[in-house]
Amino acid sequence: MDDMHTLRAPAGAEPARSGLGVAALQRDIVDNLICLQGRYPEIATPHDWFMALAYAVRDRMMTRRVATTYAYVARGAKVACYLSAEFLIGPQLGNNLINLGIESNARDALQALGIELDTLLAIEEEPGLGNGGLGRLAACYLDSLSTLEIPAIGYGIRYEFGIFDQEIRDGWQVEITDKWLQKGNPWEILRPDVAFYVNFGGRTESSTDAQGHYRVRWIPGYTVKGVACDTPMPGFRVNMCNTLRLWKSEAVESFDLQDFNAGDYYEAVHEKVRSETLSKVLYPNDEPEAGKRLRLAQQYFFVSCSLQDMLRLLKLKGEPVGRLADMFSAQLNDTHPSIAVAELMRLLVDERQMEWDEAWDITQRTLAYTNHTLLPEALETWGLPMFRDLLPRLLDIIYEINRRFLDEVRQRFPGDDARIARMSLIDENGAKRVRMAHLATVGAHAVNGVAALHSKLLEETVLRDFAELWPKRFRNVTNGVTPRRFLMLSNPALATLLDETIGQSWRTDLTKLRELGAHADDAAFQDRWRAVKQENKQTLATRIQSATGIVVDPNALFDIQVKRIHEYKRQHLNALYIVTLYLRLRRDPQLAMTPRCFVFGGKAAPGYAMAKLIIRLINGIAEVVNDDPAVNGRLKVVFYPDFNVKNAQFIYPAADLSEQISTAGKEASGTGNMKFMMNGALTIGTLDGANVEIREEVGDENFFLFGLTESEVESVRRAGYRPGEYVSGNDELREALELIASGHFSRGDAAMFRPLVDSLLYHDPFLVLADYASYVARQQDVSDAWQDTRRWTRMSIANTAYAGKFSSDRAIAEYCEHIWKIRPVKITLER
Ligand SMILES: *Cc1c(COP(=O)(O)O)cnc(C)c1O
Repeated sequence: MDDMHTLRAPAGAEPARSGLGVAALQRDIVDNLICLQGRYPEIATPHDWFMALAYAVRDRMMTRRVATTYAYVARGAKVACYLSAEFLIGPQLGNNLINLGIESNARDALQALGIELDTLLAIEEEPGLGNGGLGRLAACYLDSLSTLEIPAIGYGIRYEFGIFDQEIRDGWQVEITDKWLQKGNPWEILRPDVAFYVNFGGRTESSTDAQGHYRVRWIPGYTVKGVACDTPMPGFRVNMCNTLRLWKSEAVESFDLQDFNAGDYYEAVHEKVRSETLSKVLYPNDEPEAGKRLRLAQQYFFVSCSLQDMLRLLKLKGEPVGRLADMFSAQLNDTHPSIAVAELMRLLVDERQMEWDEAWDITQRTLAYTNHTLLPEALETWGLPMFRDLLPRLLDIIYEINRRFLDEVRQRFPGDDARIARMSLIDENGAKRVRMAHLATVGAHAVNGVAALHSKLLEETVLRDFAELWPKRFRNVTNGVTPRRFLMLSNPALATLLDETIGQSWRTDLTKLRELGAHADDAAFQDRWRAVKQENKQTLATRIQSATGIVVDPNALFDIQVKRIHEYKRQHLNALYIVTLYLRLRRDPQLAMTPRCFVFGGKAAPGYAMAKLIIRLINGIAEVVNDDPAVNGRLKVVFYPDFNVKNAQFIYPAADLSEQISTAGKEASGTGNMKFMMNGALTIGTLDGANVEIREEVGDENFFLFGLTESEVESVRRAGYRPGEYVSGNDELREALELIASGHFSRGDAAMFRPLVDSLLYHDPFLVLADYASYVARQQDVSDAWQDTRRWTRMSIANTAYAGKFSSDRAIAEYCEHIWKIRPVKITLER
């Protein structure tokens, strides 16, 4: 805060476009308004002002970006390339202001113009280029890479339509097209000079060249051009500004009006439409197989452009191709970019005439793979006919990789045909399929899971044979989240309290939060802590009312579950508990009960009927419970529509209780759990994903643990799980299920929730009923703890104090040290 005063200087003393002082910002905002927007102050809309400010901020990142690019190219620094089909970066303005250290100067500059910064912050569209946790992780990693001064490029797809916007109508989710680019995107810099061609379809021809080498030529069916769109990603109070480079697809030749005849004209337009379709829309998670051909095409498109770009930069650095792995590390964020293994081989062998063995060595040393799921339905495989049809040359290469790989397996495990079949890159059970997780594992020098438990299970289950073959290839890197966005930007009141209590160093070394421990019992500090939480809850309450019309009491315990809606995440377990509380209040309206406000948020995949029914159930319960006089305000249920990064920033800081209740063994890590913890929420959770490590850090006495462990889940399954037995032994559970089935929460329609109730009673793949009793008991402990305000506050402080491990700075430092071998580079602005 104080260091900002030194930045104040008269505009005349500061250079245009880079001055960080109030006067320079004010001058440049007005200049932009006039010169870029073509508006003058008296008629400018808030959106015009937003654009004018955003361009002023962008200018200030540019000097840093140029200096950073210079470091990639001229200074021989190794660059981390993060390949991800999703980047859920959230609105950029607030974050960029914080990282540049000009938030208060920008506020003052605008104030002098009669504009409120907060109004402009609220205007920015969410760039919804991801589904949830995986995409948000990639965004947190970009923030940490720049902050830690690691040269890095994020590579992905510039979807014209990101994840759908969610509306709730009659209690049901309705999907609305996300038109995030409609009013322009001030952060993006189109780079027509950085473009590559990507082939699809057609056939291959083999021949022997003059030197007697076997050569393959791919004669494509069609070719698409990928053009770079760059978004600057500044680090926190450092000069490094890395790049998020997203590829936009275009037709190779814009059609030529000179030589068309009627037939060719329409054919040419068709070609253009087909090309542009590639980067048109983000696929929602958990969708059935239909339409997947386009998804494979998207993956290949962005991976090929990204690898070609790395080779271009290598040349620019003056380095030979053989040095690729010394100059670049490419991390594959899940299997989505795993085609990189085959594509890098193609680029080296076919296009650079390299020998297979050398190319393979470079490929393996360049690539590393992060696995994000053990759920069998989420492990990508592609049907062979479709794969061959779309990427014939890539399939040849995968076959050759597989042949050599299986030879290695045969040598190590002679005669073990079952093992060969299990490990093959081609699944030959039934219709043949390409196993992308196997391709990634074989082609990478490092494979990691995203939390300790997940990495262990990965080695014991889906990649067990590979871990046996190459034990040293496997490791864990527990996920993290950036404290800049999820503390400083989202919870400024808490950030200020932290600064005043322990100083500012926590912003770049989150383990410093431990120093809060000394203040956990200090009554005056506790009062301030609670006042911050209360303020955040009031803010959320206001937003809830404007989004849903529901009035909630900020004095109630805010019990929050926000994340994608999925049966494994078990929002329906939470819903069953609410129905249980409701039944208790109806039976005994005098019952002493901790007032709770349950908040849910999250999108369901458009094709996932059960998840959509869970949303309907939550809204049905809300409709009944919120207005029932017997409840008398002690229970409120809210479904907050359109959970995204922008809304998340108001939600995490307002939570008293964080719901992390997935079936043990199903949530790879979770990152929502970390954001809640950092903001002082207590967790009720299973021993799943990073919850295990959260509990280890904060101590069992500050964590509400319940439910079966992963190994208990497995043994219940092996013994033959019978959900009905849990119902007959538990009257409250039976009554809750009966009430739902009766139509009480569906306006009398007893058929509506039948599929959900039947799934729980007769199938229950995620053991909701097995964990119900344990969950309800633990929730009672939560209510009891809430009654002792001092104790609760101490626990809340402890959660923030021990959240240090869950900074994405720690995670990125681990990737740098163990996987990428990349060290920080100091960027100087004057060169
Ligand atoms: C953090 C985050 C997620 C991931 O939440 P989990 O609880 O880890 O599933 C999803 N969506 C958004 C918008 C997030 O910010």
